[in-house]
Order: sequence, then structure tokens, then C-alpha cells
Amino acid sequence: MGKLIFYIIIAILAYWIINNRKSRKEKKETPLEPIEDMVSCTYCGIHLPKSEAISDRNRYFCCTEHCHQHTNSPS
Ligand SMILES: [Zn+2]
Repeated sequence: MGKLIFYIIIAILAYWIINNRKSRKEKKETPLEPIEDMVSCTYCGIHLPKSEAISDRNRYFCCTEHCHQHTNSPS
């Protein structure tokens, strides 16, 4: 009788561990935030999301300061 209860507990524990691992994996596969396009600043090379970047003639900058500095530079 004692052995049967022991096996039942083992089975429940195994089932619970497998279920826990499955839910963790599912959480990892579905990120909360959608992955945005990343662009790099032409001036300093820092990576930032496209929506936050300042675009100028197919070039991207992290801030207006870098945009002006790049367009004002002779090269
Ligand atoms: Zn920059």
C-alpha cells in the first residue's frame, strides 16, 4: 500500500515537472514585445529601434545632433 502511494506521488511530480517545463518554453517562444527593425546611427554606429531613429536620405541617426553633425561634415 505504501509503495503504491509512493509511485503515485512520483507520477504526479513527474507530470508537474514536465508541465512546468512546457509552459516555460512556450513563454520564451512568444515574446511580449514584437521585435522591431534595428538600425545603426551613421555617425556613431549605435544600434536603436527604427521607430526611435531619425532618418535622413536613407540614413539613420540616434539623435538630431548626430544628424546635423554628419550632414555638416565635409566628407
Ligand atoms: Zn549617433
